[in-house]
Amino acid sequence: MTASLHERLRSALGNDAVKTTPEDLAVYSFDAYTDGRLPSAVVIPGDTRAVSVAVKIAREFNEPVIARGAGTGLCGGAVPIVGGVVISFARMHRLLELDVANRRARIQPGLVNLHLSQQAASSGLFYAPDPASQRSSTIGGNIATNAGGPHCLSYGTTVNHVLALEIVDERGEVFTTDVDDAGYDLTAALVGSEGTLGIVTSAWVKLLRTPEAVRVWLAAFPDIESASEAVSGIIGAGIVPTALEMMDAVIVKVVEEAFHAGYPTDAAAVLLIENAGFEDEMQGCESAIRRIVQAHGALSWHAARTPAERDALWAGRKGAAGATGRIAPNYYTQDVCVPRSTLPIALRAVESAAAENDIIVGNVFHAGDGNLHPLLMYDKRDARQVGAVLATGDAILRAAIDLGGTISGEHGVGYEKREAMTRVYTTEDLAVMARVRDVFDPQRSLNPEKIFPSGTRCAELGPVR
Ligand SMILES: Cc1cc2nc3c(=O)[nH]c(=O)nc-3n(C[C@H](O)[C@H](O)[C@H](O)COP(=O)(O)OP(=O)(O)OC[C@H]3O[C@@H](n4cnc5c(N)ncnc54)[C@H](O)[C@@H]3O)c2cc1C
Repeated sequence: MTASLHERLRSALGNDAVKTTPEDLAVYSFDAYTDGRLPSAVVIPGDTRAVSVAVKIAREFNEPVIARGAGTGLCGGAVPIVGGVVISFARMHRLLELDVANRRARIQPGLVNLHLSQQAASSGLFYAPDPASQRSSTIGGNIATNAGGPHCLSYGTTVNHVLALEIVDERGEVFTTDVDDAGYDLTAALVGSEGTLGIVTSAWVKLLRTPEAVRVWLAAFPDIESASEAVSGIIGAGIVPTALEMMDAVIVKVVEEAFHAGYPTDAAAVLLIENAGFEDEMQGCESAIRRIVQAHGALSWHAARTPAERDALWAGRKGAAGATGRIAPNYYTQDVCVPRSTLPIALRAVESAAAENDIIVGNVFHAGDGNLHPLLMYDKRDARQVGAVLATGDAILRAAIDLGGTISGEHGVGYEKREAMTRVYTTEDLAVMARVRDVFDPQRSLNPEKIFPSGTRCAELGPVR
């Protein structure tokens, strides 16, 4: 059966586009969260037609189809949990059209996020959603997860930047959506659907004008509470900086060791604040934010003096997760959102959950959005530590729900959090989502075992897989 699947794929798409050796398949069996089964085959198509053909052949063989970008997902979204045919977009990575007059770009899904801004820079444009993984994650993956990033505080998440989509559906047919179309906004429905409603084969995305002026400031605090209150103070005063990120002492120390970016290692918490706009607005904005952080007990205030210093501070922030390798060989990132005003309580809950389970935790997160990312550091060769990390992650999830927050801020539900969906949604809520899925993917062949919970509540919804 598998041999004839391989043969059909090869004869339709060519040898180069089809991977079948166990070594090749193993590369596509995991993401940045977990691993699954070896897929039956991996297809690396060069265009939409090839994606459509691959889906049709997979369907003939009753094989599920899993779309894959760069595999940086943190919830098992691209992992073939029950096997199937993985479609990798590694060859569909081009910027197809740069429409400067209308400030938009048509891209293939495998285009790496940062490459779009780099290619648009000479036209004075950039792509705003900037996940910390932007050097490797793809725009297709970003669309499927509705990725956020430090600058999404003022610019909005990926859904606010997608204008139109080309989709291959579960039957292998191609359809398009456009936010300007009358009727239902199918573009928004597809963004964040984690490859369960359709496969993105190209997209028009919005580009913004490169701002005239950008300022980056660092404010150091004696404790995490005062830093959190300063965040609420800034937003409460009606100021929405382009980015407002927080790092605690554990992260500041490890980032400074790795990047020598100029972070104050004696602080218990640091806010990295960026604002962008017109030059003549900057001084007023700096004074207003500085006054607020000082009123909340900031120990120091520092303004990046040069673009190089600004970039170094951002490199530290965006490289924070990797830098934790200096503390432990593995880390698990929890991703929850809480109402901004409850940040101090949520951070205390994180600290006590980690202490109870004897796990080192570092916090680096999108504070302006109330989107926490506790990094739980551990050694996966030690079963006790693995159990302790899972228990800590679960306690943090519970605390976020109790505070009125959500189970995912931006990383998605995927395989990891599908059971947790029952903690925040009723059976009726989930049934509505399942009906939407039925419209797009009645056979549940696109990315099965994701988003929807398994088990008893699932049975009430019908065979959701
Ligand atoms: C160090 C680090 C930092 C990160 N920081 C952030 C952050 O700041 N913000 C954030 O939101 N996330 C962040 N992430 C998580 C991750 O990078 C994002 O979820 C990203 O959008 C995944 O993109 P990818 O190309 O790697 O997709 P993959 O991991 O390959 O896939 C993710 C999901 O998208 C689906 N998919 C992929 N391509 C397509 C397609 N063409 N059509 C349909 N479905 C598709 C997959 O099936 C899967 O469900 C971070 C991850 C790491 C490791």
